[in-house]
Amino acid sequence: MSPNLHARARALLSDPLTNKGTAFTEEERDLFGLHGLLPPHVGTLESQIVRRRRALEEKENDFQRYAFLRELQDSNEVLFHALVQSDLPRMLPLVYTPTVGDGCERFSEIWRRTRGLFLSYPNRERIDEILADPAYDKVKVIVVSDGERILGLGDQGAGGMGIPIGKLALYTACAGIHPSEVLPILLDLGTDNHALREDPLYVGWRAPRVRGAEYDAFVERFVEAVDARFPGVLLQWEDFAGKNAYDLLGRYRDRLLSFNDDIQGTAATTVGTLLAAVRRTGKALADQRIVLFGAGAAGSGVAEMLVQAMMAQGLDETAARTRIWAVDRDGLVLSDFPRLPPQQRKLARDPAEIADWDVDGRNLVSLHDVIANVRPTVLIGTSGQKNAFDERCVRLMADGVERPVIFPLSNPVSRAEAHPEDLLDWTDGRAVVGTGSPFATPGITQVNNVYIFPGVGLGALAARARGVSDGMFMAAARRLSELGGATGGLLPPVTDLRHVALEVAVAVARCAQEEGLAGAGSEATTRDAIAASMWAAAYD
Ligand code: NAD
Repeated sequence: MSPNLHARARALLSDPLTNKGTAFTEEERDLFGLHGLLPPHVGTLESQIVRRRRALEEKENDFQRYAFLRELQDSNEVLFHALVQSDLPRMLPLVYTPTVGDGCERFSEIWRRTRGLFLSYPNRERIDEILADPAYDKVKVIVVSDGERILGLGDQGAGGMGIPIGKLALYTACAGIHPSEVLPILLDLGTDNHALREDPLYVGWRAPRVRGAEYDAFVERFVEAVDARFPGVLLQWEDFAGKNAYDLLGRYRDRLLSFNDDIQGTAATTVGTLLAAVRRTGKALADQRIVLFGAGAAGSGVAEMLVQAMMAQGLDETAARTRIWAVDRDGLVLSDFPRLPPQQRKLARDPAEIADWDVDGRNLVSLHDVIANVRPTVLIGTSGQKNAFDERCVRLMADGVERPVIFPLSNPVSRAEAHPEDLLDWTDGRAVVGTGSPFATPGITQVNNVYIFPGVGLGALAARARGVSDGMFMAAARRLSELGGATGGLLPPVTDLRHVALEVAVAVARCAQEEGLAGAGSEATTRDAIAASMWAAAYD
């Protein structure tokens, strides 16, 4: 055997996209010179899954399982995805929320091998050069973050890379996008997390965050480079801090196929689940009184989509807005607040409306005050504030509402506004509960964006859409709400996520066609054609 052949064999084994481990066949071992580098027994994907599953379960905790799965992904992608797809309910919480929160916080600690791209500020002149690598020729979906607002955990700097990696694993698991077609990217513009900057193990750029015009110019340079290198690519913005999230979405949503999952994906998932929930309560969405706690990127996105959904049920915009009350860190959001963030302006209430309210708090109109005066039928939490839905608030809400709909959506579990068991307890089991993170409580629903974004991405790509419109997200939400719940829940079970992605994708692709947003060659948008395009983990 020539030394060259062995070098090629090692390259094959060390590239996670080509490595098959013990499953390389005798013919492949002959052809690529793998004999000797592998133990003699030729295994199967199934036996490899059994072996890895056993090793996974022997780990002591979920963080160790997360790290184990990340290493597996970096050594053999087909096996990683086959293991994930073999048991989605077990694997999703390990590769994504809630465990990915620890994965981001401890990213530097478990750093092993490269995955995706870190585009750092000092390398800003090199972005084109970095993207030019032929390894990325097949890329169709990019998930990008700057790590500033990771889940409810704040600024995680370069550790935020755990999010694009995790989301793209879900794109493959649920929407069948091939692992060679996805690219996680972290824009490293520094971090304002002092503890991270001082941590000797921190792998990111140790500088305060670049902001203002320099930040905008960097992102512009990145988008131009992506657009030139990957025409038609889907770019998903993830976990940017509130203002940047809005600015970037506004600036780029018409320039390339892109959306922000925290704003639009969350909105569609929440509205889809809420449509299913209110169907259960027997009252139309337009007749609900909705209190939103935490009007940041997620909360205000939910509010705007709720307005659209109510307008579709016949309300005019003003009437729809009067059915939503937003509460943020300064209490009920009022139009006379001196510094209202742009996304809260349309949600702010006129102080005259509350002139005759009975108010407990002296300096602000608290959540409890709002519940006491509004008597909401729906309460949604996107504040990142643990236990904000306390017993007093929940009992008050449940008094007089037969089926209170309560969605504590903040992630991870340590940030949830309430524990679902408490909600059921305080409402004598009457609450219809949706949570952001998974809980073992029976009968509750996990309002996870994974029900929407893989299907939206798949549908937009199938239609070769020029953009992802609000209408496409609404179509996704409506389709989701129709798919039916499992064992008391409002949404299909996690085992059905591939079916969900397919159904959502078909609805999204059709909507793109109806709205005139589909591109040339978009005829392959039938259910059969989209289903046939979905990759299931298997060796070639
Ligand atoms: P964000 O930072 O943009 O918004 C958080 C908002 O909460 C801000 O407006 C902030 O001012 C407000 N807030 C902070 N403290 C408060 C307090 N004491 N009282 C009331 N409001 C307060 O973040 P985001 O992207 O909107 O995400 C918020 C949370 O929602 C996160 O925990 C995230 O994990 C969760 N989330 C869940 C889902 C889902 O379940 N599908 C999707 C997206 C986001």
